[in-house]
Amino acid sequence: DNWPDTGSIELKHVSARYAETSNPVLHNITLQFKPGEKIGICGRTGSGKSSLSLTLIRMIDVFQGQIIIDGIDISQVPLLILRKRMSIIPQDPHLFAGTIRFNLDPEGRYTNEKLWNALHIAQLKDTVEMMRGRLDEQIPEGGDTFSAGQKQLFCLARAFLRKSRILIMDEATSSIDFHTDAILQNVISTSFADKTVLTIAHRISTILESDTILVLSDGEVIEYDTPTNL
Ligand code: ATP
Ligand code: MG
Repeated sequence: DNWPDTGSIELKHVSARYAETSNPVLHNITLQFKPGEKIGICGRTGSGKSSLSLTLIRMIDVFQGQIIIDGIDISQVPLLILRKRMSIIPQDPHLFAGTIRFNLDPEGRYTNEKLWNALHIAQLKDTVEMMRGRLDEQIPEGGDTFSAGQKQLFCLARAFLRKSRILIMDEATSSIDFHTDAILQNVISTSFADKTVLTIAHRISTILESDTILVLSDGEVIEYDTPTNL
């Protein structure tokens, strides 16, 4: 079973909330993303960007509408499968207490060569090579020996290994510096060229090269077009 095999995403009149008793945070969103499309998402703080990304892995309650990925309504997909097949890099990623290897490859599926290659792609190879234990270096719970940006690069390496058709990248708000930002975008445009990628960005410059830009405001889509048309 290789769903999703192309990475098309369709949202049909999606409304969502964090709990059944709370107010909706996304209102009637209808969108369609093609396989391989690069979508940049922006909007003020609290506009619903992270919430939108969470609907795709059913982390929030979609109480109205449908989300269809490669022909399948994700409400019908077992959670474990859904979350395994989609790669989502949260704003403040969490690394587990354990080795670098375990964090990259919890199921022990890849060779050392593949792991080093993924670290190289995410530009973390030098960092890990300098650690005493290298791939077997222990990371403390939470991974706070890394910056938020570095943790995101780490997640990107993991996503690269898993070869997910769909990547959702919620850029770190605070600490992200231009340098890490540039690396992230570079890796996405080269190593994820054929994947569907949603990038939530805090600087418009980050997503100017997207195929489409989506602007959210108060849980609604207020702009949706190519960068040149906006
Ligand atoms: P930022 O740029 O600060 O990351 P955002 O666009 O990602 O903002 P969201 O985090 O999606 O915004 O927030 C949208 C709305 O959902 C806000 O009103 C926020 O208060 C609410 N919200 C976010 N997280 C939760 C949560 N865990 N429980 C309840 N409400 C939440
Ligand atoms: Mg957010």
